[in-house]
This record gives sequence, structure tokens and C-alpha cells, in this order.
Amino acid sequence: MAVVIGDTCINCAACIDECPVEAIVDEDDNPTGEEYYYVYPDKCVECVDHFDSPACAEACPTEGCITWDMPFAGDDKEWFKEPNYLDGEEYGVENFDVDMPYRDDISMEDRKAHKPVVED
Ligand code: SF4
Ligand code: SF4
Repeated sequence: MAVVIGDTCINCAACIDECPVEAIVDEDDNPTGEEYYYVYPDKCVECVDHFDSPACAEACPTEGCITWDMPFAGDDKEWFKEPNYLDGEEYGVENFDVDMPYRDDISMEDRKAHKPVVED
């Protein structure tokens, strides 16, 4: 990952067309079964080489809804094989073999704590 969409999502669709790599799906296609939008960690590039910051979070009207998650790269991918998704659910991942770009200025502590990408 990446970033993760939390259960305060109101399914407003403001984020989905902002994503440059089509990593976001709506509630009907959320592989976790939750009824809100979802970011595939094996597709999200944290908007590296596209924008200065994650475009989905900039577009989201719900404060704190989109938060940081662990990088989908190297040993950190183990995080996504465990039930570490929100409320202890399992992530939906289509391809564990890829290593995705991530912003190395975001600390692992902030990622594990799901710090909001956009803070007031
Ligand atoms: S951070 Fe960027 S690449 Fe990742 S889901 Fe959001 S818009 Fe897409
Ligand atoms: S913009 Fe925010 S509230 Fe709207 S669908 Fe995306 S994550 Fe959910």
C-alpha cells in the first residue's frame, strides 16, 4: 500500500477517478466484503511520480477517512498476508509478487497507526 480507506467512507465516489492507477474500487467490488470503497495495496503507488501527495485523500470530503498503511514492498508485504486490515479483517490482494512505490518520508510508526493522509 499504500493508503487505506476506513469505515467512515460515505461512498461518495470523489476519490475513484482521481487515482492515476485505478487502484480504488467501490463498495460493490470491495474484496473484503465491507460496504465502502477499497484501495488495492498491490496497485496503489501512493501517487509517487504522479502527484505531490495522494490524490484520493486530497479529494476525499470525509476527514481522516483515508490513512497511511504499510508499504507494499519487500518484507513489509508480510503485513498484508496477516489479518491486519481494519477490524482485523484480511486484505484483498490480487498479486503478491509486485513491489509498489511508496513515500519513504512517511514513517512506519505513522503507517501502522493509520495516520490520516490529510490532516487539518
Ligand atoms: S494514493 Fe494515489 S495511487 Fe494510491 S489509491 Fe490514492 S490516488 Fe490511487
Ligand atoms: S472520497 Fe472518501 S468518502 Fe468518498 S468514496 Fe472516496 S474514500 Fe469514501
